Amino acid sequence: MSSATSTAAVSTGSEATDIPQERRVVTEIPGPRSRELHARRQAVVPPGVHSVLPVYIDRAHDSILVDVDGNRIVDVCGGIGVMTVGHTDEAVVAAASAQLAKVTHTLFTMTPYEPYVQVAEHLAKHVPGSTPEAPYKTLLMNSGAEAVENGVKIARKYTGRPGIAVLEHAYHGRTLLTSSMNHKAAPYALGYGPRVGDIYKAPNSYPLHDGLSGEDAARRTIAFLEKQAGASDLACLIVEPIQGEGGFIVPAEGYLPALAAWCRENGIVFIADEVQAGMARTGTVFSIAQFGVEPDILLSAKGIAGGLPLAGITGRAEIMDASQPGGLGGTFGGNPVACAAAVAVFEQIEARDLLAEARRIERVFGGGLRELQAAHPAIAEVRGTGAMLAIEVLRPGTREPDGALVSRVVEEAAQRGVLLLSTGVHNQAIRFLPSLKMTDALLADVLAVLDESFTAAGA
Ligand SMILES: *Cc1c(COP(=O)(O)O)cnc(C)c1O
Repeated sequence: MSSATSTAAVSTGSEATDIPQERRVVTEIPGPRSRELHARRQAVVPPGVHSVLPVYIDRAHDSILVDVDGNRIVDVCGGIGVMTVGHTDEAVVAAASAQLAKVTHTLFTMTPYEPYVQVAEHLAKHVPGSTPEAPYKTLLMNSGAEAVENGVKIARKYTGRPGIAVLEHAYHGRTLLTSSMNHKAAPYALGYGPRVGDIYKAPNSYPLHDGLSGEDAARRTIAFLEKQAGASDLACLIVEPIQGEGGFIVPAEGYLPALAAWCRENGIVFIADEVQAGMARTGTVFSIAQFGVEPDILLSAKGIAGGLPLAGITGRAEIMDASQPGGLGGTFGGNPVACAAAVAVFEQIEARDLLAEARRIERVFGGGLRELQAAHPAIAEVRGTGAMLAIEVLRPGTREPDGALVSRVVEEAAQRGVLLLSTGVHNQAIRFLPSLKMTDALLADVLAVLDESFTAAGA
C-alpha cells in the first residue's frame, strides 16, 4: 500500500489492498468470532444502535469485506452509499494519511486551512446552477443530518419564514429536527417527542403506485402545501431527487422541475438532499442534474469523503451570505483529514472516469436485474439510475408490498456472503449501492446469488 506516512504502527498484515475481489464463505454467518464479539457488544452498547448483520468486519478493500472469521463478503451497500470509490481506495488512504500527519485539527472557525477551501471549490464546480461568474458557496459539517439542519437554518435566515416542506417517503436523518421530517415515525421519532413543528409532509411522486404524470403529481404536492402550510410561510422545500430510505423512488418526469418553478415563484428555497444520491453514484456528480433542476441549496454527505465523516451545504451566494458570522459551524465540521479525503474522491471521479463506471453498472447490473425480474414475478419493478438501483417486491398480481419476502431474500443472500440492504417505508425494496469499481465478474456473482436467494426464499 502506498500510504505516504505509514510507520511501524501499520503492519503489512493489516493492510487491505491484497484482498481478492471474490466471495468466500468459510463459517456460518455470523461466524463464531462475530458471535463472541456480539455478546460483548450487547453488554456495553444499547440496542437502539442496531446492526442489520452482526458480522464484525476486520478489513476491507474495494467491494469485499473480510470479517473476523475470515469470510469474504461482497458489499453491495457500501456503508449505505458511502464507499462510492470502494473501500480503502489507495488515493483516499494516501491523501488522508498525509493530512493526518500534517495537521489533524485546528477548527476552521478558529484558524483555517486549505483543504476546506478546496472542497468548497470542487463543490462549486459541480453543483448545478453554480457558475464560475457566480459560484455557489459551501459550509462543511460532519453528517447528512447536520447538512439538513443547516440547510433549514440558512433557508429560514434568508427568507425570514418558519415553514419546512418535505415529501412523503422522505428520510433526512436522526437528530431531533430531522427525525421530525422523516416519513416514518417508527423507529426514528417514536417516543422522542415533542416533535418539531412547522413541518409539512406533502404527497410525493411514486409512479409505480400513483400512476400520475410528473405535472399531475406536482399539482397534488403544491395544492397540499398551499392549503396546509401556505406558500408565504414556507422557508424551504427539501427533496431527495431519488428518495433513498423511501425505496429509491424515482419521481415521474417533470415533477421536480415543476416543484422548483413553484418554489422560485413563491420565494421558497429549493433544497436538494443529495446525501445518498450524490457524489457520482448516479452517473452524474449530482443526480439533480439529470432532472434539469438547479437547486438553491444542495446537501452532500455519505459518499463525499471515501468513508470519513463530512457533509456539504452548498448554495447560492445570496442565500448562504444571509447568515451572520459565527451563526454557522461546529467544532469538527470540515475536519482537515476528511477534507483531504474528499479532495482525493473528487480527483478519483475524474481520473478513473467514475461517471462512466456508474453507467457501466447500470447497464450490467440493471440489465441483470431485469432478467431476474422475468424469472421472479415478485419483482414488480427495477428502477434507479447508475449505481443507485433497486427492485420493488410486491405480492404477484397485487399492489401489496411483500416486506417479509424482502427480509427472507436479504437473509438468504447474507448466508451466501452477499451483504444486501432493504429499503422503503414498507420494507418493499432491495437497494443496490455498489462501489463504482465493482467488477463485472463480481456483479454477475451478486446476480447469481440474488437468483438463488429468491428461489430459496420461496419466490
Ligand atoms: C443518510 C441520509 C441522511 C442522514 O445522513 P447522516 O449522515 O446519517 O446523518 C439525510 N438524507 C438522506 C437522503 C440520507 O440518505
